[in-house]
Amino acid sequence: MPSVIDLELRHGARNYHPLDVVLESARGAWAVGSDGRRYLDFLAGYSSLNFGHRHPVLIEAARKQLDRLTLTSRAFHHDQLGPFCAELAEMAGKDMVLPMNTGAEAVESAIKVARKWGYEVRGVPADRATIVVAEGNFHGRTTTIVGFSGDDNARAGFGPFGGGFRTVPFGDAAALADAFDETTVAVLVEPVQGEAGVIVPPPDYLPAVRELCTRNGALFIADEIQSGLGRTGRTFACDHWGVVPDVYVLGKALGGGIVPVSAVVADAPVLGVLSPGQHGSTFGGNPMGCAVARAVIGLLKDRTIGDTVRERGRQLAARLSGLEGRGVVAVRCLGLWAGIDIEPSLASGRTVCEGLAERGVLAKDTHGSTLRFAPPLFVTADEVDFAVDALADVLAAQGRD
Ligand code: PLP
Repeated sequence: MPSVIDLELRHGARNYHPLDVVLESARGAWAVGSDGRRYLDFLAGYSSLNFGHRHPVLIEAARKQLDRLTLTSRAFHHDQLGPFCAELAEMAGKDMVLPMNTGAEAVESAIKVARKWGYEVRGVPADRATIVVAEGNFHGRTTTIVGFSGDDNARAGFGPFGGGFRTVPFGDAAALADAFDETTVAVLVEPVQGEAGVIVPPPDYLPAVRELCTRNGALFIADEIQSGLGRTGRTFACDHWGVVPDVYVLGKALGGGIVPVSAVVADAPVLGVLSPGQHGSTFGGNPMGCAVARAVIGLLKDRTIGDTVRERGRQLAARLSGLEGRGVVAVRCLGLWAGIDIEPSLASGRTVCEGLAERGVLAKDTHGSTLRFAPPLFVTADEVDFAVDALADVLAAQGRD
């Protein structure tokens, strides 16, 4: 009898290399494997599970909606879409919402909207619009998006690519200032680069992006798919710098870890460039997704979440910093989000993640020897200690303590 892993390897496309753990159930910050072991989830579905697994409020919203109406397509109205758009727009301080499903779709949609806005509002000559992006970016996996990725593994073999993007170093306001010309319709950045290893920009960077976009008449598009919705201790990572972009791109946690829900959120002069038939998605804005996302927005209204995340985040940062020089080269933290560079000569990120899983903690490496910790936002002080103690133990077992 082949195991479920054998079946996956034999019949599933091998575009992932998961750890040797088979999860069968989960609740809050803990998942249970087919081996009967409990695992503390410090990846949280790449920040899709900000509220943990199967949060009762979100499950209840999904259940109620399952019993009423799940899909209509956008050919008809339904009673969840209008309230969802209004509530998300209000949370973001914007007028309008374009609902989609996955993060990459929302980024693609923001690119399309920015180009159309550039032609119709800014008067950029047809098919000449450019969008400035940052080195080290990760915005998803579609052909347009990987076309401007600097990651060879994500890009090689998938061309030809369409162009229309200009890449500048992340965090370098002077380089960004030089990148604008009359064709520039937008700057697309992650406020904190997640996949790159939780790279937090210098303090003056995002205010400078805001100022340069305003001065050059370009849209500031913040991809907050991973950084947004509480992860950093604020509703949006941009809030840390007091910066308001023209366009928020949201995803992951918006679907509560239950259904894929993403969105582009902006004011009417921007999203208003779309007319019927010019953009769409069969599942985008479906009743199930809207009902769950409304419950997510409801949870985010609890202002104490930010305080909790910031306090737990300070604990996480302090404990991880204590490992510097003991197998850890550098730590970057914002809220409950940490990038941890392991000494490459000691172990690969993969080896460390395997060691963590053996000790009951789930995490994911990114780019060689970097780990990312992103636990559910309601993680306790003891659970933070449990994960960092496990990491210390793994590093010690590699010969450093
Ligand atoms: N943008 C950012 C910042 C992300 O971190 C991700 C996924 O990790 C995406 C976009 C793509 O989202 P999805 O995998 O839902 O398409």
